[in-house]
Amino acid sequence: GNLSEGDAALVARRERALGPAYRLFYETPLHLVRGEGVWLYDAAGEAYLDTYNNVASVGHCHPRVVAAMAGQAATFASHTRYLHEAVLDYSERLLATVPAALSHMMFTCTGSEANDLALRIAREHTGGTGIIVTENAYHGVTLAVSGFSPSLGPGVPLGEHVRTVPAPDPALGARTGAVFAAGVQAAIDDLTRHGIRPAVLIVDTIFSSDGVIPDPAGFLAPAAEAIRAAGGLFIADEVQPGFGRTGAGMWGFARHGVVPDMVSLGKPMGNGYPVAGLILRPEVVARFGAKGRYFNTFGGNAVAATTAAAVLDVIEDEGLIENARLTGAYLAEGLRTLATRFPALGPIRGAGLFVGADIVDGDAPDAALTHRVVNALRQARVLISATGASANTLKIRPPLVFARDHADIFLDRFETVLKALS
Ligand code: PMP
Repeated sequence: GNLSEGDAALVARRERALGPAYRLFYETPLHLVRGEGVWLYDAAGEAYLDTYNNVASVGHCHPRVVAAMAGQAATFASHTRYLHEAVLDYSERLLATVPAALSHMMFTCTGSEANDLALRIAREHTGGTGIIVTENAYHGVTLAVSGFSPSLGPGVPLGEHVRTVPAPDPALGARTGAVFAAGVQAAIDDLTRHGIRPAVLIVDTIFSSDGVIPDPAGFLAPAAEAIRAAGGLFIADEVQPGFGRTGAGMWGFARHGVVPDMVSLGKPMGNGYPVAGLILRPEVVARFGAKGRYFNTFGGNAVAATTAAAVLDVIEDEGLIENARLTGAYLAEGLRTLATRFPALGPIRGAGLFVGADIVDGDAPDAALTHRVVNALRQARVLISATGASANTLKIRPPLVFARDHADIFLDRFETVLKALS
């Protein structure tokens, strides 16, 4: 499809007003005006199946979440320097979903800020400055955090005290954890050799930007032990896997049987309202708290906390973790069946409604074909994107209200696209 005259004008206005750093999805950019559940609608009223948006995690514009948000916005909308129940009710409720050792919460507006704050706290607690991340990690946009987000590419330099380690290799099976931990140990040794004390190992517990690597569950434990033995902290970035997406409880780290020192939260927390934060062990934030105050104007404001609580209500009342587990398994099974018929569709990895599907040419990653698949699906009105160091992993990550019917629509259109491009 070609861009309409109206949409071409929007593209030109974006370039003029927003400048050169913004990127649109798709060869033919989409102009969306409305969302409901797993569906997004363009200006002409066409429906697109959203298999990608993990922010609108309980469904686009969920009426219960919108009503809670609007109600609080119309009542009291101020910050955390006044007494108010909303931020406390929410914190206590969320803290009940993590191991008891994690008993404090702090609020930000974005995942980037949460990771930036985690780093400040870790530096204060450990006295170290070294940071270890995976080779294609993404953790956010601030000066410090972009410096440990290698997926931004060589144009965005890594910080001086940052070391990268190879992502876990699921092909190693039971050895995945030991090999990943050996990489972390090598990074610790390199930091130490350069006179840098390690402060943190931070990982996205589903390794989204590294290509979606959920299994074997448990593989993170030896790496978390290694960073702690070196005096550093283990931070679980739950911005992508958190809030039930993996279908195995609320948190990605729990699948690995580890208790992090800090957990960063974002995207799905407010289903679109900007609310994010950190869950922490109290001892790691003691010195930071004694030294200075922390105030984030919008972080944890009454509307944010009330909206986030409504998201938890929906996750519970609509059984979305169970749905993620069951529908995710059904979707992955459907993809594996397709993979037996289309050689371009390689290994499928997934946990709940977070599925990665590699596009390959024999054993080699095929980024060019992946790009064509993503754009052909967009023409077939299915929204998806690709990830991974080789840009050949389809990232399938729909709102958690995705049902079997939606999985069937996706599989049907995906099959048509694979036929056309094979
Ligand atoms: N961590 C991870 C794993 C993310 O995927 C993202 C956002 N893509 C962030 C942190 C940063 O979150 P935000 O865009 O809200 O700053």
